[in-house]
This record gives sequence, structure tokens and C-alpha cells, in this order.
Amino acid sequence: MKGRLFVVSGPSGSGKSTITKKVRDMLNIPLSISATSRKPRLGEVDGRDYYFLTKEEFEEKIKNNEFFEYALVHGNYYGTLEKVVEDSLNKGHNIILEIDVQGGIQAKKRKQDAVLIFCRTENEEVLEKRLRNRKTDSEEIIELRLKNAKKELSYEKEYDYVIVNKKLDDAIKQLIDIIKEESYEKA
Ligand code: 5GP
Repeated sequence: MKGRLFVVSGPSGSGKSTITKKVRDMLNIPLSISATSRKPRLGEVDGRDYYFLTKEEFEEKIKNNEFFEYALVHGNYYGTLEKVVEDSLNKGHNIILEIDVQGGIQAKKRKQDAVLIFCRTENEEVLEKRLRNRKTDSEEIIELRLKNAKKELSYEKEYDYVIVNKKLDDAIKQLIDIIKEESYEKA
């Protein structure tokens, strides 16, 4: 059995988390939990949503080469632990990382057979509306995320597939089709 690494990236507000979560559930792909130095949002749980670390703890793990990839996103560290990726692949399981574009590029360098999938809205107006509707972030954070979105969008060409998330169900189906097509083990 051989698992494959899939990476889903895209600006925040593109719907990538919702799509990825749904697809993981539907295809029975275990959740891979990232580490971050950002503070938990209301309702987020350590070890379920993220491993919440202090900046110092995160930097210690960087120094010890514990990360498969990591990046500074919106002013905080986010990273995937090497162990999380290797454990899944060694068991022959597919793994989906929902990470930012800098992490996506690093993942491809580390594992050339990684499949990179970029998720976006049809245009920037829709993205802004989605970010504002979430109501989880302050105006300052929303502005920062919009600025970063423009930078993220310029990485689209580095990705193997692009999903334009107009209708959630269609986007979910597209991601499922890509994973089924690109998996080493056909279900
Ligand atoms: P949020 O703060 O909204 O949970 O996530 C912010 C951004 O960090 C998202 O674009 C998300 O994809 C990215 N992110 C989450 N986990 C990781 C990770 O492990 N590595 C990298 N490079 N980015 C991540």
C-alpha cells in the first residue's frame, strides 16, 4: 500500500477548509493537525484544531528540524510536523494538508510526487464578502488577510490543479475526483 500527499491551498475565505474537511470525512482520510503559534479562536481546542504552541516552542521545533514544512502566515507560524506526514504515508494512507502557498511549495520540494491543489473564489469581491461574513476576525485581520490573498493568488500557476469554488458541492466533487484519480491505491 502506498499513500500520496495532497496539498490544498488558497486564500483564506476561499472555502478550502470547508471543502477539505468534507472530503476527508467522505473519503475517510484522517485529519492531519498542524502546529501554530497563533492564539486559539473561540471554540478551538488544542490537539483537535491545531497544536497551539508559543512562538518560542515553535522556534525550538524549527531548530530541531521537526517540521516537514512551516511558514509565517498573517504574522504567526504555522507548520506540519514531519512525524504527522511520515506516519500517514508509512501506513499507506493518503494525507491532505490544508496549508498556505509557501508551505505548498516546500511540500512539493520535499516530495516531488505531492499533488498541489489551489482553491479560490471566482473573483476578489466574492472573497472579501466571505471574509467579512465569517465574523470571526477583526477589521485589521480581515485587511491583512485580503492583502495576503492577493499574494497567495499569484502562486496559482505553481499548482497542479485549480478548483474555483462557486458552488460548495461542485468544489467537493472536484477535489474527490482529483484524489481518486491521483491516488496510488484505487478504491
Ligand atoms: P487560520 O488561522 O485561519 O486557521 O489559518 C490561516 C492560514 O494558515 C490558512 O491559509 C491555512 O491554510 C494556513 N495553515 C494552516 N496550517 C498550516 C500549516 O501547517 N502550514 C502552513 N504552511 N500553513 C498552514
